[in-house]
Amino acid sequence: MKILAVIGTRPEAIKMCPLIRELKKREGVCAEICATGQHGRLFDEVAELFDIHPVCNFDLMSSVNSQEELVGGILARLPAVLESEKPSLLLVHGDTSSALAAALCGFWEKIPVAHIEAGLRTYKPLPFPEEFNRRAISLVASLHFAPTESARDNLLREGVEPERIFVTGNTGLDALKYTVTKTWHSPFAAFTEGKKTVLVTAHRRESHDILQDMMAGIADVSQIRHDIALLVPAHPNPVVQETMRKIFADLPNVKVIPALDVATFHNLLATSFCVLTDSGGIQEEAAALHIPTLVLRDETERPEGVATGSLLPIGRTRESIREGFLNLLCDEALYRRMKNAQNPYGDGDASKKIADILISFSSANPQNSSPSP
Ligand code: UDP
Repeated sequence: MKILAVIGTRPEAIKMCPLIRELKKREGVCAEICATGQHGRLFDEVAELFDIHPVCNFDLMSSVNSQEELVGGILARLPAVLESEKPSLLLVHGDTSSALAAALCGFWEKIPVAHIEAGLRTYKPLPFPEEFNRRAISLVASLHFAPTESARDNLLREGVEPERIFVTGNTGLDALKYTVTKTWHSPFAAFTEGKKTVLVTAHRRESHDILQDMMAGIADVSQIRHDIALLVPAHPNPVVQETMRKIFADLPNVKVIPALDVATFHNLLATSFCVLTDSGGIQEEAAALHIPTLVLRDETERPEGVATGSLLPIGRTRESIREGFLNLLCDEALYRRMKNAQNPYGDGDASKKIADILISFSSANPQNSSPSP
């Protein structure tokens, strides 16, 4: 059984490497990665940590300037890889444009596509382009691995056959088992000592125009509350880098740092007081680690964490962010409720469950017959 995963970004790598490692352990399974290079070295760092070596890397980050060029670049290159590797199954993850392009190639080449982290929806235009990508991939996938029951319900409502949907938990939690250790020592200990460590990340494309205003809400709080130390790992995107450095310059209790390697990030998250983020993956990781999370968005496609109480969306305006953040710092009962909330994203064994299902699917479809999606 030959499985090829097509991966472009850092978050995909974090959530797919545990599954690839699990598949590599299984007898009779050959599992490989084709990297699109959408996130360049951010992807490479994760692959190296998990000791996974892609069979090819299109290195597209250095040569494309738009989503159109990225998707076009993958569509132009992937068919040759499918021809030489001859996978019996194609794995794609989540909502990136790399995943969308790979799913389309699988569909056209009649190679069954398995969609990991399927069924997340806002049913709104945002997040952009992720909501569209997810929905389009669902149309061509043969197998849908939903992290939660509510993701499964979305797929059922859209007409996906129930026998093609499997609820497994999120593979991002499997990665935490690999990265988080009790013996970790923070490289930022001198800066955070005696204070509550607050992690801040924000990078979404749809927020770039208003990022300065959003971060101003956080800067306001840092000037009132001297008992907090804010660490801001800034995404390499130049808009994000520039905004973060400008808005937080000269604030003694805020440190803007380069994007962290995933092991450092996970351990820092695990030991933080709270996190403010617009990231999807961090919402799940923080819920699993019981770190209260203020979501810097109007909508989240992770409603389970809001329902159980670990995630609290506080919007995207300076005022709503300032109020939401201050509220969490002042309201001990709210903090305790969020800290003790149940984790809805699984037990960290999603990769094992997915590997079992992929292997039984392959045994039941030995001729590589792609069931119609
Ligand atoms: N992450 C990381 N280093 C950082 C910030 C985030 O390794 O400095 C990880 C984080 O643990 C999570 C993933 O990157 O697994 C989230 O990526 P991102 O926010 O870019 O994407 P999203 O999850 O929203 O798709």
